[in-house]
Amino acid sequence: MNNTITLNSRPVGKPQLSDFKFVEEEMPLLKDGEILLKTKFVSVDPYLRGRMSDAKSYVPPFELQKAMNSGVVAEVVESQNDQYKVGDFVTGSLDWKEFQTSSGKNLLKVDNSAAPLSNYLGVLGMTGLTAYFGLTEIGKPQKGETIVVSGAAGAVGSVVGQIAKIFGCRVVGIAGSKEKVEMLKTKFGFDAAINYNTTENMTKAISEACPDGVDIYFDNVGGTISDSVHANINRLGRIVVCGAISAYNDTSIPQGPRVEHFLIRKSALMQGFIVGNYAEQFPDGMKQLSQWLSEGKLISTETIVEGFKNIPQAFLDLFEGKNKGKMIVKI
Ligand code: NAP
Repeated sequence: MNNTITLNSRPVGKPQLSDFKFVEEEMPLLKDGEILLKTKFVSVDPYLRGRMSDAKSYVPPFELQKAMNSGVVAEVVESQNDQYKVGDFVTGSLDWKEFQTSSGKNLLKVDNSAAPLSNYLGVLGMTGLTAYFGLTEIGKPQKGETIVVSGAAGAVGSVVGQIAKIFGCRVVGIAGSKEKVEMLKTKFGFDAAINYNTTENMTKAISEACPDGVDIYFDNVGGTISDSVHANINRLGRIVVCGAISAYNDTSIPQGPRVEHFLIRKSALMQGFIVGNYAEQFPDGMKQLSQWLSEGKLISTETIVEGFKNIPQAFLDLFEGKNKGKMIVKI
């Protein structure tokens, strides 16, 4: 039998384990032209929360009682497709199933001798590309500028900060624990880091950590943390709106200070994006990230949880900040 995880119910507010269901199904049978894949690593990501709701977005919602899916690295264990041989590793958007068949369309072969397989879900996958394109295309970092990154110890944030260092910026990170703040400074070379859970006046703390103001704000979390950064933005500053995890479980539209005032006064730019906007440039992004990784200019950090049955809990743990770097489940 084959183990799968389906969406059992649509969460209201914070998702629960009961929103997921473990289902056993018959092992899939291979048809001509198909490959049989064995799941090796599963990515859990904050954006999946949006797809659990029945709301119109840039990706369709998950269907109830159907398998969840996300970024996966899998091994080809049987092949009736000339493009793939047994032992190949592939990555793509695949179901939360231990085994599944595929036509091979929309999958990318990955090389396990070039990088650990899990990296293709992190620094060399969607999150690395998000950091790279969000920062370079919208943030446009210049040597000597100051950047603040929220969610700085997470998958996207930790890569953004490191790339900004490569560009010669002063990098200030915001994260949720003492341990994470230390990691940002000692492991990733951030110039300063702030623990938002223990800092009473975030606006003041950001102003002290950024004596020349904030030229770029790479925002992964939204909410009151962002309000404090916006208050410190410089003239012609760029605000890269990547994510708003602090609001993903809200049941009503969050209210906050209006942004028009400082955007006008500071002639600042605020732009949201989704990584898919840059799909045509992914090969270039991958090449650059791989090069920095091999040169040791970029460090990959992953929190690896083991076991298929722990995929839902690993996803829930993202909202509790239990991960450092990319949260990945090893099967
Ligand atoms: P991640 O940062 O690795 O994990 C989520 C982190 O968010 C947690 O570790 C936690 O860190 C922090 N967090 C959780 N609840 C929070 C809250 N209420 N307030 C402040 N921080 C909170 O996740 P990721 O995959 O790198 O994604 C980061 C953001 O980028 C998400 O908002 C995601 O949706 C977005 N994203 C956007 C794109 C795009 O195309 N635009 C692509 C990928 C990701 P702490 O311990 O520091 O709180």
